[in-house]
Amino acid sequence: MSVNSKQDRYDLLNSQWNCECGALHSVPTRIVDIAAGALNHITDIMSELGLRGKILLLADKNTFLVAGAKVEGILYDGGLDVRSHVLEGRPVADEASVKDVTSLVDSDDVAIVSCGSGTITDLAKCAALEHDITHIAIATAPSMNGYASGIAAIMQGGLKTTLPVRPPIAVIADPSVLKKAPIEMIRAGIGDLLSKPVCNADWKLASLVKGEHFCSRPYELVKDLESLYMDGAKDLLSRKPETIAALTEALIFSGISMVIAGSSSPASGAEHLISHFIDMRAEADGAGHDLHGVQVGIASVATARLHERMLKRSYANVVPPDVDLLWKRGDEAIERVRKIFGPCSESIVSEYLKKRGSRESFASEVKWIVENIDAIRDGYSKYLTSSATMREALVDVGAKKSFAELGIGGESLRDVLELAFVIRGRYTILDLAFILGELDGWVDEMITSNGEI
Ligand SMILES: [Zn+2]
Ligand SMILES: [Zn+2]
Repeated sequence: MSVNSKQDRYDLLNSQWNCECGALHSVPTRIVDIAAGALNHITDIMSELGLRGKILLLADKNTFLVAGAKVEGILYDGGLDVRSHVLEGRPVADEASVKDVTSLVDSDDVAIVSCGSGTITDLAKCAALEHDITHIAIATAPSMNGYASGIAAIMQGGLKTTLPVRPPIAVIADPSVLKKAPIEMIRAGIGDLLSKPVCNADWKLASLVKGEHFCSRPYELVKDLESLYMDGAKDLLSRKPETIAALTEALIFSGISMVIAGSSSPASGAEHLISHFIDMRAEADGAGHDLHGVQVGIASVATARLHERMLKRSYANVVPPDVDLLWKRGDEAIERVRKIFGPCSESIVSEYLKKRGSRESFASEVKWIVENIDAIRDGYSKYLTSSATMREALVDVGAKKSFAELGIGGESLRDVLELAFVIRGRYTILDLAFILGELDGWVDEMITSNGEI
């Protein structure tokens, strides 16, 4: 199946196919409706889906104002039994909020309609799964790629965890609503999407080193949309509806690319580990952090630089790394993570310990990497986009361009960049750079430039 046109993209909805990668892929989401006035389509969508009965509409104060009240009115006028719950203050996606939202659902509700961005959509996904009811997501900001994904990012005991949930059956987005989102949320949306080339290069790398299943369809699906929002990045500042719609479409289909992959791999690589590290450190310190996509955008350019640094280097006649020393340095990294995260750290480092494996398997993996480094680089490099092009998109939208602007510099930045590979089981360019002795030089360069990308 080729994914080239808009029609091809939409044909993937509500479908299942045997892919040339050998896997059976399926996309349960049936409807993606991105259009001016799309909110008015909700009653037709409800009847197309055969939904009649009680409906819970979930929003917060802001999203109720920009879209929720209108949707409530449309559903009511359409003869549907809708009741709205407007969450107080600034909602957070944690265990307590999941419990609260789940308890709002009545036993005879047939659907939950979420009206919001990341947090509200994720809370609704969890509640819909718990009650086994339909979920329809209404997007209110082009800020993240989770609208159509099958995971929810929930903070559990100080740890950011991604829970498997069901993707919404329909996602509705009206660009005239989305364009009113705070500009920082629009910047976050493009920042999150910028990571896709590096994520897919990392995923391919993991398939080569760790034998993970890889499929290029998720990459192609979002790549086809890249020019729509990258070339017009400046138009996002003036909130041009066509460009906002393109950005939203790319974000929604990035979520679908994860559903196709059956994991977050096509949308989360080394740059996401860096962002998760920043989030967890802020949580441990009781401090705030920037929007996910803003952090990811900066980290994506930084890791694209690391990729480029490693592609430039010749590994012909390279002296094989000292495995004893690497193992010791891995242990030191684990100790540093334990010190930083305290009681939470055991579940964090356990994933890394599994990834590293036994001393014996680690030694043979290092040996294999050194012997096959050119083939490995050839395998993953075709998925990359140049760091300069990625940086330009951040400049065009007036986004932050340095870790310093995120409030992270000096030794804190060293911790983030040197230790991000220890906090997850995901294999990325950070692991390869650690093995090949490239991590230190890249980290020093980032610190010297005060985190400027
Ligand atoms: Zn496939
Ligand atoms: Zn992301």
